[in-house]
Amino acid sequence: MAKDKDYIQLINTTRWKQLRKSILDAYPLCQRCQQEGRLTAAQEVHHIRPVEEAITYADKMQRMYDAHNLQALCHDCHVKTHTEQGRCGREATKKRNEKQVEQVIKKFFDEGEDEDRGPVF
Ligand SMILES: [Zn+2]
Repeated sequence: MAKDKDYIQLINTTRWKQLRKSILDAYPLCQRCQQEGRLTAAQEVHHIRPVEEAITYADKMQRMYDAHNLQALCHDCHVKTHTEQGRCGREATKKRNEKQVEQVIKKFFDEGEDEDRGPVF
């Protein structure tokens, strides 16, 4: 996953390292594994709303350090969660594009029909 320079800067701070540690201390078990009925040690801290998708630096900082935006995960779940997010994102974009194409086609044909109806006497 491509990380932008703000992300790299924000993740390399003492503030983040301390926050990350406190999250892992508070949630020693992978939260996703727990939901799925497995007990696995959490190793990584996941940002639920992706930091690098925020527009402004202030927004990135807010997402990076917001405890409510963090989730303790094991490595496998972290990778899985990112894969799913990526796929869902692409699927959503694809669906939106398909819908737009559909609307354009519908509009085109509707207008087409009207024009066809015109010259018929
Ligand atoms: Zn897990």
